[in-house]
Amino acid sequence: MTDIIIIGSGPAGLTAAIYAQRAGLQALVIEKQPMSGGQIVNTADVDNYPGMPGIGGFELGMSFHDHAQKLGAAFVTEEVRAIESVDKSEKVVVTAKERYSCRAIVLAMGASYRMLGVPGERELRGMGVSYCATCDGAFFRGKTVAVIGGGDVALGDALFLARGCEKVYLIHRRDTFRGAGSLQEKVFATPNIEIIYDSVAESIVGDGMVQMLQIINKKTMKKSDIFVQGVFVAVGMEPNTQLVRALVDCDAGGYVCADETCKTSIPGIYAAGDLRTKQLRQVVTAAADGANAIASAEMYLQEK
Ligand code: NAP
Repeated sequence: MTDIIIIGSGPAGLTAAIYAQRAGLQALVIEKQPMSGGQIVNTADVDNYPGMPGIGGFELGMSFHDHAQKLGAAFVTEEVRAIESVDKSEKVVVTAKERYSCRAIVLAMGASYRMLGVPGERELRGMGVSYCATCDGAFFRGKTVAVIGGGDVALGDALFLARGCEKVYLIHRRDTFRGAGSLQEKVFATPNIEIIYDSVAESIVGDGMVQMLQIINKKTMKKSDIFVQGVFVAVGMEPNTQLVRALVDCDAGGYVCADETCKTSIPGIYAAGDLRTKQLRQVVTAAADGANAIASAEMYLQEK
């Protein structure tokens, strides 16, 4: 039996592994992909992690992984299918291959891209529809693309794509952006970004590859066709909590209810990172959760 099983290997999970090992608790990290780092793996520059200006996301993720491994954390690449027993004496995490026993669990499965849910999106995914500008932007050099969304990611994606694309349409469902003012200023000052407010996508059209985006202005109800080769969907994230929604308390959006102590509704199970109810989802807040989850777990494991 291991002390702590950490499900997920983004900044929250890897920080939990580092703090567990330093506290003398053996951590086993179960990661779905054979690569640590979570969402930052696809981030070109993480420019707001203290002390690491401009570090690449992949590099930062790997350094978290190497740190945890150096301290003795164990890693397996498997998908967790269920959490079966949640007793104080033994908790059981089940994958397709194994049943792992432990004394405490940290849920750190993060969040995934939200889809628009419009016709053509699923069919043309990878054929011009993308959820990651830094991953796929290079394929659209010199082309015309659309970015959908109004948060930090959409603004950042539009700026990133405008560097290589001929033209970028930024389509937002309201007339004010949610994203940071500093990013908005840069977007407004970029000549090859055209902003289309109050509009949503109705369908993405293409024969094998994206050729057109059909949008509707929600105020005027006017429909327009925009000829683009790429559609970058940046409308937020959804928590990867399907595994635990029937087990621990979650809010209406599926985020695991937990405060800064990271304690869930089940003693000995902690929620760290983007899947937790919180105000700000960043690498630094995910890392902080990893530390707090282990501090809570230490107290729990010391209780009789
Ligand atoms: P977000 O802040 O939740 O923004 C999502 C955007 O998509 C919103 O503008 C929203 O519109 C729009 N939207 C949602 N569903 C939609 C739909 N079905 N159709 C059309 N538009 C839709 O998500 P995010 O931009 O992915 O950012 C996630 C978190 O990461 C945020 O906390 C963000 O601050 C953080 N982040 C930080 C940085 C950084 O600091 N460097 C970089 C990236 C992300 P409404 O505005 O109308 O709701």
